[in-house]
Amino acid sequence: MIRLGVTGTDTGVGKTTVSRALLGLMRADGLRVAAMKPVETGVAVDDPASDARALAAAAGNGASMRDVCPIVLAEPLAPWMAARRSGRPLAMNPLNESFHRLIRDVDAILVEGAGGLLVPITESDTYLALFQRWSLDAIVVAANRLGVINHTRLTVDRLRDGGVRILGVVLNETDGAAPDLARRTNHDALRTLLPDTPVVSFPWLPSHADVSSVARAAAASGLRGLIAHSAPERHHFEEGRAHR
Ligand SMILES: [Mg+2]
Repeated sequence: MIRLGVTGTDTGVGKTTVSRALLGLMRADGLRVAAMKPVETGVAVDDPASDARALAAAAGNGASMRDVCPIVLAEPLAPWMAARRSGRPLAMNPLNESFHRLIRDVDAILVEGAGGLLVPITESDTYLALFQRWSLDAIVVAANRLGVINHTRLTVDRLRDGGVRILGVVLNETDGAAPDLARRTNHDALRTLLPDTPVVSFPWLPSHADVSSVARAAAASGLRGLIAHSAPERHHFEEGRAHR
């Protein structure tokens, strides 16, 4: 089965939009997909604008929100600190249980992190640990702006050191203004500096972009090529059909 872990070079870099695009592509190829945001902070449980709800709608598999997003914390902080301040420290077991319920009847799962790779879930567990434990292949969403070369290399190096397979870097446009020199040269720079990692560009979309504009952007970007390398024995995107 396809197991994707979507991480970012920072918070607010477009992980959820890229995740919706990936879910849409897989569904268009006939795959049954599930999505998970293990911990979401800075939102209320019933917030209609939460990442978890956007992912659940994109997955469309009818999974319980209690599994899609087992832990919701009001304060906009890293999960470990938000949980500590709420008086209910986080445990990994409920996350594991939800993950295993979600993957029961699907061909693919996509897990969206919070912030970047080493964001703490507990004092000793990070999203890297979650990706390792759940055998997720990483997609790194990188904000196309000055500084992204360093942030992307740090993330890619740490994933490699941790033994996580990297499907690619998605260089995402995070605003609609005319690109400056850094934004115009970052794609080239990353391709040269990361010769073993596919780097694709994703256009700027407002965070509330409708399903059809996300689908158009997904089709025009190189996202399909990235997931074609995930679980190749089960899944053949190139031929435009899904194996179950
Ligand atoms: Mg997000």
